[in-house]
Amino acid sequence: MLSHASRGLLFFALLALVSCSTTETTVSRKNTLRTFNTVVVDAGHGGKDSGASRRFGPPEKVVTLDVAQRLNRKLRESQFKTVMTRSSDVFIPLDQRVAIGNRQSNSVFVSIHFNDSRRRGIRGIETYYSSPYAASLAQRIQRKLLTIRGMANRGVRPARFRVLRNAVYPSVLVECGFLSNRGDGGRAGSAGHRDLLADKISEAIVEERYGAGVYNAPTRMAGGAVPDPQGARTLTAPSR
Ligand code: ZN
Repeated sequence: MLSHASRGLLFFALLALVSCSTTETTVSRKNTLRTFNTVVVDAGHGGKDSGASRRFGPPEKVVTLDVAQRLNRKLRESQFKTVMTRSSDVFIPLDQRVAIGNRQSNSVFVSIHFNDSRRRGIRGIETYYSSPYAASLAQRIQRKLLTIRGMANRGVRPARFRVLRNAVYPSVLVECGFLSNRGDGGRAGSAGHRDLLADKISEAIVEERYGAGVYNAPTRMAGGAVPDPQGARTLTAPSR
């Protein structure tokens, strides 16, 4: 007869086993870093999922879409094929985003996010990857973004976010600054800054594929302020 405590332990041990076997998907990862001709551009959040709470910047879902659209256009100007997981304010589940990416052979996947923290002093850029094949692309994106004046370096790290760990092709997730920080969040509200973010990410992708110095900075997209509707202070748990 098991005591209450050991029955509890056994329960959690079984639960751990079950959850491991259901969440561990074994994707066979492909290294397309030297061959890719397609970039899947993933604008984080959307629809009912606003993303990071708005303090100094617009809602995350608005700025991720804007940067993604600019990135999409710049990559096309650089002769890549592109696929956007969303091109309007709609909710797309994470697994569906992954599936869209995995359907594009000879591709890489770039997910655009902005960050949030309870500590308003925290600021800077973070880039994540899961497949070791994506590490150099993540490093390059981070390095290029850090050439933007005022951006702080919070590092490049492996992470098990769903859009990364279940991806067949090299996938990275870029956190383009903290909306909870006055400096980062204020910049995120500027179309010029968002264009620069997209430009640096685009440059990194082109250089990863074709080598340094081949990127022609495309023409800037005209841009006013992003729509910033009243009542958009939605507090949604950031999902990625
Ligand atoms: Zn996010």
